[in-house]
Parts: sequence; C-alpha cells; structure tokens
Amino acid sequence: MITKLAVLGSTGSIGQQTLEVVRAFPHRFRIVGLAAGKNLDLLAKQVSEFKPRFVYSQDREAYTHQNAECEFLSLEELASHPQVDTVVIASSGKSGLLPVIAAVKSGKNVALANKESLVTAGKIITKEAKLNKAKILPIDSEHSAIWQCLKGETQKAAQLVLTASGGPFLRFSPARLDKVTVKQALRHPSWQMGQKVTIDSATLMNKGLEVIEAHWLFGIPFNNIRVLIHPQSIIHSLVEFIDGSVKAQLSYPDMRLPIQYALSYPERLPNPELPRLNWDRLGSLTFEPPDLDKFPCLKLAIEAGKKGGTYPAVLCAADEIAVKLFLSQRIKFNDIARLVEQVLGQHQAITHPTLEEIIAADAWAGEKAYQLITGDSPC
Ligand code: MG
Repeated sequence: MITKLAVLGSTGSIGQQTLEVVRAFPHRFRIVGLAAGKNLDLLAKQVSEFKPRFVYSQDREAYTHQNAECEFLSLEELASHPQVDTVVIASSGKSGLLPVIAAVKSGKNVALANKESLVTAGKIITKEAKLNKAKILPIDSEHSAIWQCLKGETQKAAQLVLTASGGPFLRFSPARLDKVTVKQALRHPSWQMGQKVTIDSATLMNKGLEVIEAHWLFGIPFNNIRVLIHPQSIIHSLVEFIDGSVKAQLSYPDMRLPIQYALSYPERLPNPELPRLNWDRLGSLTFEPPDLDKFPCLKLAIEAGKKGGTYPAVLCAADEIAVKLFLSQRIKFNDIARLVEQVLGQHQAITHPTLEEIIAADAWAGEKAYQLITGDSPC
C-alpha cells in the first residue's frame, strides 16, 4: 500500500529529511503535495523530482510562473485534500497552526514536527483530532521516543522523562553565556537542525516547548513530566510506569528515524541509510538535572504551560522575536529569556481562548517583544 503524502515546509530541515525518507522507499510513499515558503529554487527542484499534483509557495506569482503543471492550493486546502493520506507539518513557527487544524478536522494522519501549533493550541488540536479520528504522529525525537515506549502499554505512564542534550553551552558560566556569539549558538553538538530550533536548543526553550507538547500529546500532567540532561543524545526519552519500570528508546541521533517511524507507523522499515549505534564505541551515557537558573527559558516555558490559556502562545511569539533579534545581533543571548519573561509579565491572559484569541495573543506578544527592544513596531 502506498501512502500519499503532503509535505508542508518541504525546503526546511525536517522537510528535506522527509523527502530523503521518501526517496529511500519509493514504493511505499508518494508525494502528492509540496509546500514551501520563499526558497523557490529548491522547491522547483523538489517539484521536478517528486512531481506532486499540488503545490504551495508564499510567493504565488513567482511560483506559478515557473511551474504551470501543478495545481496551486492554500496550505489549509493542501492539509485537508481528499487525495492526501498523511500530512507532514514540517514548517516552523506560527505558519503551522492553521494547516494542523485543517488536517485534524478532516481526519488526516498528521505527522507533526511543528512545535508552535501544539504548544499554543494543544487543547483545541487534541479535541478536534479526537472528534474527527485524526491521528497525531509525533516527529520530534523525544515525543517519538515516548510514543514508542508507550506502545503496547494499557495503563497511563507514571512519569515522562524528556532528555535534552543541554546544547552547546551546557558547561558555560552565566558570565560566559552573556558573551556568546550567534555563530557559537548555531553550533549544536549532536543534531543538525534549522536556525530557530538550534537557538531554542541552546537556551533550552526548545525543551520547555517539548514539555508542553508532551502534556497535550500524551495527556500527562505537567508535574509528571521532567527534563533530564543527557549530553550524548542517544536516549531520546524515557517513560516510567506505575511499578517503577522504565522504558527508553535509543538510537543514533538522526531525525530521519523518527520521521520514518511517523510515516510508516505502526510498521518499521529497514533503511540502510540510517546509521546504527556502535555499542563497542558508545562508552558511557550520563544524566544530570537541568540548571534552571542558567537556562531560565526552560522554567518560563513550563510555567507558561502550567498556567495554560493564552500564556503558551505569548511565550512562543515572544521567543520567536527574541531569537530573531539575537540572530540579527540586536540583543545578547541572555536577553532572550529576559525579553520573553518581560512580555509574559505584561500579558493579560485569557483562560479558555478560542483559536482567534490565541492568534490575537500571538500577534500582541510579537509586537510587544519587538517594541520593548526597538521602541518600534515590526514592519
Ligand atoms: Mg526535540
């Protein structure tokens, strides 16, 4: 049986790795839709290789001019199209939210890599997924690990343990952290990822967002989810059960594995291109608790998740702007957390927000973050 895929965010890091998996199993997966932002050259190459029926790009005019043979759809039309079995949401940032909602409302399998959608609207997405029998298949390595550990279990987990590499600054003093450069922050020790998620990994914001996602994906209270620093990135997460037994999922850190599992679930596929663990050379695996004073973004994210309502949307939007300002060298590394905290502190939250209220809170927070630093509105 061939699974028909639409890949949203096909030119990004996860999108390109998804296409590598598809390339490895041409008789198992077929690309029927591709969507990208502004990287038209790469999108054009992908279209000529995979020949999808449907396509989307941010710049419609430039795109349709080059590629007349594909039907141009909106992201939401693509995510809910009857010819699509599984939608891969690989786009980063807020652009993932509405397509995820469209996909779950139409009962698709949703292979989800976009963090912001579950973080900001987890309650709405999981409710709609249940209502419409849509399956959310996690792509992130930590959630994939937990999902794999839970398979076959009939009782709820007692505790989820999300592992974190600790990023490039694990051993830095707070004073050294204040002076880190963009180049240093973009050099992640174990994972190849896009810029935004690499910075979020260095601040541990990424792990905080993953805690919120885990809460919604697996229905586990925040107090039963913990983060553990594991610098080797071999154990991708652990699940503890009520009898004290702990299961872990281990593999070489390569995103193609969780992507492939989300696409082939419940089956596993043999992919010779995926590197295997070398047990003779692995050495020791170490664990330590995270330092919340040095990496306050983790604490801010978990607090925002616990408070719920519009707080997680504000957290995400403020962080998105803070990371942009850091990448353009307008603020320092430690200012990312300070700015996010300031914006959260000024927010008047809504406890049970609608989708529109979540989107409005996101817009408010982005603008507020930008204003606090530049005194101006973003253009
Ligand atoms: Mg992750």
